[in-house]
Amino acid sequence: LKTKTTYIDISGIPVKLVKKRIRNLNLRVCRRTGEVRVSAPWHTGLHSIRTFVMSKRDWIDKHVQRSKERAPKILYKYVQGECHFIMGCEYRLQVIERDKPPSAEIAGGHILKLFVRPGSDEKKRESVLREWYREILKKQIPALIGKWEKELNVTVKDWGVKQMKTRWGTCNIRDSRIWLNLELAKTPPGCLDYVVLHEMVHLLERYHNKRFYTIVGKYMPDWKEREQILKRSVDYCGL
Ligand SMILES: [Zn+2]
Repeated sequence: LKTKTTYIDISGIPVKLVKKRIRNLNLRVCRRTGEVRVSAPWHTGLHSIRTFVMSKRDWIDKHVQRSKERAPKILYKYVQGECHFIMGCEYRLQVIERDKPPSAEIAGGHILKLFVRPGSDEKKRESVLREWYREILKKQIPALIGKWEKELNVTVKDWGVKQMKTRWGTCNIRDSRIWLNLELAKTPPGCLDYVVLHEMVHLLERYHNKRFYTIVGKYMPDWKEREQILKRSVDYCGL
């Protein structure tokens, strides 16, 4: 796997240039950092790369701007009073130490109670909350899958929830299995519903082509708005 990375400036745009064995020039803007990345076939001249980048100038500016507007990833410390999101609503964390198995629950007045053993550190608190998020999703997902199985006339043989860095969901078409990102426990319920639908539509159409979005739009006309909420909520990039 031979690649060569250099950094060049194209009319004021810092560009990370990666040369490798590919056929075409590719351009992307990192959603998180706004970094402009171009990958190019080995023997592409600098002039061609400049022309290519300049022809996409408007698109680049728009996406670099968007990455700046996006809220930075929140770093949680799992301490008293901290704000946490559950299915799109904000809750204040109340940490209660007690000598019982750890758990979490929602209380009145938008309080999220986190029960941990005395002396539990940040990492331990995080894992308790993570498992609780997983349970929240696991309670909701079967009904959503059941609903879309009927509508789309497909079968999901297996599904699961896991932490993913770059995807809200994935679909293994061959095994009819879908994976959903644990972070969906933090976004509004309509977003979870959309990701479930999206992944299940892949059982009918592998690619994100016109046919794919026609099917999605038929069953969920406002899917774009839901996707926008997902894009704003964390720096994950795709589906
Ligand atoms: Zn997809």
